[in-house]
Amino acid sequence: MSQGSPLIPFGRGVLVTGSERGIGLEAARVFAKAGCDIVLNYPGQGDCAEREASGIMAEFGVKACALKADVAVPDQARKLVQDADSLLGGLDIVVCNAGICRFLSFLEISDEEWNAHIATNLNGSFYVSQEAAKIMVKRGSGGRIILVTSVGSFRSNATQTHYCASKGGQNLLMQGMALELAPHGIIVNAVAPGWIHTDINDASSKDPAVTGPWLSTHCPAGRLGSPSDLGSAFLLLGSRDAGYINGSTITVDGGWSAQL
Ligand code: NAD
Repeated sequence: MSQGSPLIPFGRGVLVTGSERGIGLEAARVFAKAGCDIVLNYPGQGDCAEREASGIMAEFGVKACALKADVAVPDQARKLVQDADSLLGGLDIVVCNAGICRFLSFLEISDEEWNAHIATNLNGSFYVSQEAAKIMVKRGSGGRIILVTSVGSFRSNATQTHYCASKGGQNLLMQGMALELAPHGIIVNAVAPGWIHTDINDASSKDPAVTGPWLSTHCPAGRLGSPSDLGSAFLLLGSRDAGYINGSTITVDGGWSAQL
């Protein structure tokens, strides 16, 4: 599809949830650059997502649009996938990226916050990927599903107990789907980001009192990540070439989780 890229996307139709900004937008742009048509998704006001869809069309010469849906709401999440499939003329690659993270000490996590994190991060991934898998199985031509998890899906972190629980659940959701969907030619993997500077952590990312100690003790790369650091992982896991990579996670964390 694209010139200069050794990796060929599995197909042309790509849906990325939570893609008006940050990591999701990067995933969408990487696939658009490789020649794919894109459905962006946003949960609230659509101005930003509409602007990004127009920008993708102008820059890469592919089709792109933005659909409003809250992935935490089952009917909205499933309709998003069905509509994306219709608009794209076939859904080939789905990236479950939509997520929230509010930093709270364990004793302060309310039932509402707990449920919101599980609903968006874990349940949303289930609704979207199951609906996509049903469509892909019915069509019979396989697919690629990528979950955006976190290094917090392997181990927890203070003030992120609720978030990490939702991300750990995503990890096992990914593995279970990989086992059951492989016979249908649907490959399911995860990208686990480390500390990537986006809106989700903007305040702490800009605070040298927070980033300084973390960088010197935890991050061999010596810098925070940016969404563009994740592009190659998305492209690999969404490619035709990834057929024997299944149930795996690519960690993109500058070496953070490699240390004892
Ligand atoms: P972000 O806040 O910039 O992006 C999150 C996106 O999800 C936004 O576009 C937001 O509108 C969307 N979203 C939130 N709730 C939604 C809902 N209910 N329905 C649909 N969309 C919804 O943050 P980000 O860092 O780009 O996060 C993207 C993903 O990466 C998340 O799943 C997050 O947990 C994960 N992640 C981020 C980091 C990091 O350091 N930034 C680290 C590990 C994992």
